[in-house]
Amino acid sequence: MTLSDRITDKRDDLIQLTQDLIRIPTLNPPGENYREICDFLDKRLTKHGFQTQMIRATGTPGDSEKYPRWNIVARRDGAQTGECVHFNSHTDVVEVGHGWTFDPFGGDISDGKIYGRGACDMKGGLAASIIAAEAFIEEHPNFQGAIEISGTADEESGGYGGVAYLAEKGFFDPDKVQHVIIPEPLQKDRICLGHRGGWWAEIETKGEIAHGSMPFLGDCAVRHMGAVLSEFEAKLYPAMAARFTEMPVVPEGARQSTMNINSIHGGQKEQTDDFTGLPAHCVPDSCRIVIDRRYLVEETLDQVRDEVKALLEGLRETRPDFDYELTELNSVIPSMTDKTAPVVETVAKAIEEVMGKPPTYVASPGSYDQKHIDRIGKLKNCIAYGPGLLELAHKPDEYIGIDDMIDSARVMGAALETLLLPKG
Ligand SMILES: [Zn+2]
Repeated sequence: MTLSDRITDKRDDLIQLTQDLIRIPTLNPPGENYREICDFLDKRLTKHGFQTQMIRATGTPGDSEKYPRWNIVARRDGAQTGECVHFNSHTDVVEVGHGWTFDPFGGDISDGKIYGRGACDMKGGLAASIIAAEAFIEEHPNFQGAIEISGTADEESGGYGGVAYLAEKGFFDPDKVQHVIIPEPLQKDRICLGHRGGWWAEIETKGEIAHGSMPFLGDCAVRHMGAVLSEFEAKLYPAMAARFTEMPVVPEGARQSTMNINSIHGGQKEQTDDFTGLPAHCVPDSCRIVIDRRYLVEETLDQVRDEVKALLEGLRETRPDFDYELTELNSVIPSMTDKTAPVVETVAKAIEEVMGKPPTYVASPGSYDQKHIDRIGKLKNCIAYGPGLLELAHKPDEYIGIDDMIDSARVMGAALETLLLPKG
């Protein structure tokens, strides 16, 4: 029997496993049932000879007695020493939202697809990697090296209670782990090399309150913010649009620097819908926006930050009474693995073998846990590769194709054969 046949024969097991994972509602926020899904994975993987560790990311954002941030790392050593291949999947899923025709936690099957929140992002990928590893171990009990499978918390909220915490604890030390595959839903014939960076900040312009009938006695913070926005329109947006990246980001529009303005608020608080009164007449003394700036591997965080600050400082020089405060909210670095890195070349060859055509290389517009493996773990040999369509992530009636899971499990199995069997 070949490994590929062995994986194909595990179709029913793969379906059941995916359904079982979907039926544990690991909603984040707030971070429900993390312990339950780790216990489930623990039972499954110890049965197949893995040693497991349960790690609670104590003290990370959101961690509490009610919602503890549990993670599992399972390891199976081969008969001889060698390299370690690590499959990392996040176990959390985002809120359900509206518009579902299937039970979001039912794991229903229709037309060759399994439906549910997290089916494609990314319980289907987790299940595929488990089946690939288990089949590989059955086929090659004397393999050299080790296989690790982790199920981690909080990717959807930044990964601080998951991969970031594990990386800080040394779980992605390049001396211990040599290859990382993250089975995010990037499609079975594509290799995702990395992602753009992000910088989030709040900008507040300051004014002075006064009676609305005599605005000249105060200073309107909203007008100051208007000046900020027109600086962005006149200078920042054209500058960002002119910057293209070498990264193969999809969709095409994200192949340049971008910035979203997430929110704007100035002046009096908005009242609830049942309020029937009229507003008071005041000059607003504060206006705030939150910006979401996504940047390229060719830019540095300092440049990104300084560019915005320079525009604001420029206004301080030219605009009377202009005053502002900039508060950084969060930042993540861009990450891009080299196309010639061993895990990339190995998975590329595996895709060609299984799918009969070379892979497409992509990069993600938003970030995922690769940033922590890169920055904290200092491990560069990392990609995202897994079944499913990225466009379905976070949508109603999210699904994973069963054949797609089988094919990507075969690719993962072929990659394990290249990396963990004696050469020649
Ligand atoms: Zn995901």
